[in-house]
Formats: sequence, C-alpha cells, structure tokens
Amino acid sequence: MEIGVKKSEALRQIKELCGERATDARFECVLYSRDLAPVPALLVDPLFKTVPDLVVRPTGAEEVAEILCLAGAAGIPVTPRSGASTVYFDSVPAKGGIVIDLNLLKGVLELDEDGMTVTVKAGTTWSELERYLNAKGYAPKSVPSSAPASSIAGWLCMMGYGIGSLKYGSLLSQVKWAEVVLPGGEIRQVTADTDPPLAWFAASEGTLGIITKLKIEIRKRTPMKHFLLYSRELSEMAGVLTAVKDAKITPYNLHFTDEACVKAMFRQGISPGNVDSGCLLAIDYEGPEDELNQAEEMIASLVADNTAVSFLPGDVAEMEWEERYKSLKLKRSGPSEVGGEVFLPVSRLESYLSDIKRLSGRYGREMCSYGHVATPERIIIMTMFFADETRVFEYVMDLSLVKKIQDVGYRHGGYPYGVGLWNTPYLGRIFKASELEQLRTRKKKLDPKGIMNPGKLYKWHPMLNPFNFSLGMNVMAGIRRFMRGSVRR
Ligand SMILES: Cc1cc2nc3c(=O)[nH]c(=O)nc-3n(C[C@H](O)[C@H](O)[C@H](O)COP(=O)(O)OP(=O)(O)OC[C@H]3O[C@@H](n4cnc5c(N)ncnc54)[C@H](O)[C@@H]3O)c2cc1C
Repeated sequence: MEIGVKKSEALRQIKELCGERATDARFECVLYSRDLAPVPALLVDPLFKTVPDLVVRPTGAEEVAEILCLAGAAGIPVTPRSGASTVYFDSVPAKGGIVIDLNLLKGVLELDEDGMTVTVKAGTTWSELERYLNAKGYAPKSVPSSAPASSIAGWLCMMGYGIGSLKYGSLLSQVKWAEVVLPGGEIRQVTADTDPPLAWFAASEGTLGIITKLKIEIRKRTPMKHFLLYSRELSEMAGVLTAVKDAKITPYNLHFTDEACVKAMFRQGISPGNVDSGCLLAIDYEGPEDELNQAEEMIASLVADNTAVSFLPGDVAEMEWEERYKSLKLKRSGPSEVGGEVFLPVSRLESYLSDIKRLSGRYGREMCSYGHVATPERIIIMTMFFADETRVFEYVMDLSLVKKIQDVGYRHGGYPYGVGLWNTPYLGRIFKASELEQLRTRKKKLDPKGIMNPGKLYKWHPMLNPFNFSLGMNVMAGIRRFMRGSVRR
C-alpha cells in the first residue's frame, strides 16, 4: 500500500516537473503501447502491461536525471523511446511505468571540421543529421536504412549496423563519447576508457541508462558510383557478392535482393528495371574519383567474366540508391508484412536461401529476402511474408513462421538481429553463456533496482522460456501447415 502511495506521489512529481510535456491521459498513453510490428492483444495483454502510466518528453539531460531519480526512488519502471522504429517491443513498456519520449532532444550542437566530428542531441534523426552535414559538404559515416525515423542514440542502443558499415564499421566504432544519464540520475560522459565504458551502452536497448548527447565521426561527402547487377542464378550472384565484398576497394553499400522479392516487386510494378525474376545486387561506392574508377573497372571485369550476371542501366542503379530508405515498400501488398531478421554469415547466404525456399513451399507462404552486408563476415538478412493482421487467428498462426525462419538462420550460423522482448527466447542463440552472464553483471552494477526497460534483453518472461516458446511455436506452425490450403492469401 505504502509503495503504491510512493509511486503515485513520484508520478505526480514527475508530471509536475514536465508540465505540458507530460501526460497520463489514457488516450495518449495507449499510443505508446506499440511499435512498428502489429502484435494481437491476445498475445500481449495477458503477459505484459504495455500501456505506460505516464509519458514524459524531457528537453535535456538535467530533466532526464530528475525523472530517473524520482522513478528510481519509487521503483517505477522507465522505458526510453525515440523513433520507435524497432519491432521487438524494444521501446514499448513490458511493466507499465514511465515512457521517456526523447524526441525533443533534437539538433546539432557542434560541427568540428578539423576533427571531423559532430556533436548531436540524442533524438536527432539520421536523416536530419544527414541533411545538415550534406549541406556543409560532409556526411555521416554510416546510417540505418530507417534513417528518416531512427534517432542517433536509438541506433547506438541497438546493433548499429546499416548502410556504410561495411566500409566504416559499426556505429560504436565511430562514437567518440556519449553523455549518459545513469539509472541513479548521475550524468556521465562515457568513452572507450571510462568506467562504465561506452561499449556497455551499445546494443544495451535502453536498459542501462539514457543517452542524451553524442560526439560522432563524420566523413567528407565525396562522389558516388552506383551499380545494379542482375542474375537468374543465385549461386553466380553469391560469388560476385563475395568477390566485391573482399575486393581491395570496399563498397560503401552492398545490398542483395532475392528472386521472391523481385517477383513480388514486379507484381506491384516497382521492380528495378522492371525485371520479373532473378536476383539483384546493388553496389554503391563513395570516395575519390580514382578509387571510383578502379572500382568500376573491377565490377566490369567481374561481370565480363560471368555470363550469368549483367548490369541494369545506370539510371536504374541510381534510383535504387535513391530508394535506400524505402525497404518496406513491399508492404503495400499487405495489409501486413511479418518477418525474421537474421545476422547471418555471408558465406551461408546461398544455403540459407535454399532452405527458406523449401520452408516457403512447405507452409504455402511466399517468403521474400533482402539484406545488407554489414561486415566482411555478416549480412543482415530480412526474410518476410505477407500476412493480414485483421484476421487474428490466421495472423497468430503466421507469427509461428518467424520462429521457423530463425531456425533456418540458426542452422546456418545466424541469430536474431536485436533482442527487445520478442527475441528473448533466443537469448541462448544470440549470446554465449559467458556473454550473457557478463551482460547481467553490468545490469546489476548500473541498475541494481532494475528500473530501466525491465523485461527486455537479459531474461525471458516465464511464459516465453525457450522450451515453452519452442513447443508453442512448433504446434502453431503445425496447425498453420495443416491450414495452408484454407488460407486465403
Ligand atoms: C524500414 C526499416 C529499416 C531498418 N534498418 C535498420 C538498419 O539498417 N540497421 C539497424 O540496425 N536497424 C534497422 N532498423 C531497426 C531500427 O530502425 C533501428 O534499430 C533504429 O536505429 C532504432 O532507432 P529508434 O530511434 O527508432 O529507437 P527506438 O526504437 O525508439 O528504441 C530502440 C531501443 O533503444 C532504446 N533507446 C532509444 N533511445 C534511447 C536513448 N536516447 N537512450 C537510451 N536508450 C534509448 C529504447 O528503449 C529501445 O530499447 C530498421 C527498421 C525499419 C522499420
């Protein structure tokens, strides 16, 4: 009872602190109980309290610190939220409490042209930063393909790989320092050498503190060259992809699209160059002219040596680059797209896709895959299929196929890209036991009361333990397979 009074008093004080930038109106709080992925209430409501008690929109680190102090003293859960462009309920509360909406922390604070860095507030989107830098002749070293919605800090708190990572590395490797408000309310500037170090906050998914400011490396904006290759033979294209990735000049971006995806785009009238089958490889270079010319010669000789691979016209390649932030354009065939994102060894791409094709046939669902090569070893591959969230029973059965996609990924050495809430049953696949232990030790050290984004990243909800989850999903997938003839799509 006393705890209840303490909590409501803390909520009242926080509401008063933020004034008009706080709301506990249910109508508004409900808007914060979801992210990009539609999940039926029947799967969520019995297990989680996703509607926050209070939403606040702080304007600076000091205000964030006061909120965390008050919330911490009363044991109120706090969920940071920026662009909410994630899909695993990463920024949706699992246990109610306070959502801290960080979208008012916006803007560039300092451009250091000698040091080639920019200092930026955490909630600035990557597209906002890109526009600012481009106007001055600079660019971010890498960006997520969700740049129009994704915030700078949101990407650091997730995995931090995307367009440009193959050439420039993960976002973590480009951050000089970050200002973080720790769960106790202390404001710290963390670097590679502080205790706690910056690396602890990368991929921490809002569970260790709130980032309010960052200093990151930038690059000169240089000319680019774009190529779009087409092949009817997956194995030939996989060979070209490997050769391009391992060549002396590293591409800025290397994006693969499989045949099912090409066919789905063709049906919608949006396939590049109007190709109706086969697979695509977009290759984008940036850098000095002589490097671009060498890269062009290398690509031309690869294509000349490989009769199964050809160029699509240059203007089509340019347009593909222009559309780099529209990776969900297929969704228009929806109403919904459901999928699994796998951090897969590049070397296993071909065998992964051939197993996905088999899976697709077994369950009568066309599965489309595309991916960014994120590092020399790994590709972030997204495998999706169309579903209809308005037909709840079928949709829930469809969700079981996401586990089947992840199982295929796992067989080929891959694991889910990001954890949040819905990927906690795969923790044993994502981390080694010793890594998970290390993460839990960090969490205990920085957030002993467990107020930051509870229910995510470190352990699964009892109902989502890997055994129950696997059994439940496999049974649902069995029903889904049995239903395949009766499903409308
Ligand atoms: C079309 C599309 C393309 C995408 N492409 C990529 C891609 O190329 N690479 C990639 O990695 N992901 C990608 N994503 C996933 C997602 O967009 C990114 O991870 C994105 O960077 C998340 O940023 P956000 O601001 O939306 O964070 P949110 O979704 O708001 O939050 C993400 C996590 O970080 C925490 N958090 C947010 N802000 C802060 C903060 N300031 N301090 C502490 N914790 C915080 C939240 O609690 C949550 O756990 C894509 C998603 C879509 C829909």
